[in-house]
Amino acid sequence: MHRFFLPFLPPGREEFPLPPGQTKKIRRVLKLGAGDEIVLWDEEGTEYRARITKAAGRRVYVKILDRREPAVEPPLRVALIQGVPKGDKIELIIQKAAELGVWSICPVITERTVARVPPERRRSRLRRWQAIAREAARQCGRVHTPLIAEIAALDELWEGLKGEVYKLIFREGEGRGLKAYLRENAPPSSHAPVYLFVGPEGGFSSREVAAGITAGAVPVSLGPRILRTETAGLVALSLLLYEWGDLGG
Ligand code: SAM
Repeated sequence: MHRFFLPFLPPGREEFPLPPGQTKKIRRVLKLGAGDEIVLWDEEGTEYRARITKAAGRRVYVKILDRREPAVEPPLRVALIQGVPKGDKIELIIQKAAELGVWSICPVITERTVARVPPERRRSRLRRWQAIAREAARQCGRVHTPLIAEIAALDELWEGLKGEVYKLIFREGEGRGLKAYLRENAPPSSHAPVYLFVGPEGGFSSREVAAGITAGAVPVSLGPRILRTETAGLVALSLLLYEWGDLGG
């Protein structure tokens, strides 16, 4: 069935006109008309089966038949808290993490961050990162576009995350391995997010790890080799979604 992105579902209305941008393809290219069914999807990850009720000129009215959360989204909401790396490595991280199934990414400044993003360029960078996430999500058939947060200071995040249960801070040689952690603990039963903290090139300082532990984060290792920052988050995300999610089928 043909799928169309719907940025905004009119609240409380079962029948409504589609935005003009969508109707040209429906009418002229696909030649769909009254009685035909289509699928609408929004950025929240919801799909709506809809029937065209009226189609005249550029006006296409649809009626929602039912809604569902499609199976392309992982059963687990993973937030990657990533130390901002040098150069444009963050773009690769965003693209690949979106494909793998990340829910959101928050770039953070830490004690050892060397990358500099001047404040006046942060808005345009954020827009570019959001566009990369959107394109990666579209390309791999996801219905949720990973949320990209504004650059934040790591130290300021802990307080707001105090109530969150699943927080893993990655540091080589620290604590137990991720494999053991995932096998000894049960995945969240609700939509409680899992937060993965990955340091920049220079890693987290001992003070930062201690602050994380005080806020309830669990220090975990990814094994005996030191991975580059752009590898570590993607590996952690893959292992998590393999063990607790839907990666690997
Ligand atoms: N020498 C740095 C240090 O002192 O932490 C290495 C940093 S590493 C290049 C960048 C980040 O990737 C680390 O802060 C950590 O979050 C993650 N990382 C890389 N290898 C890891 C491993 N084997 N176990 C856990 N985390 C790892």
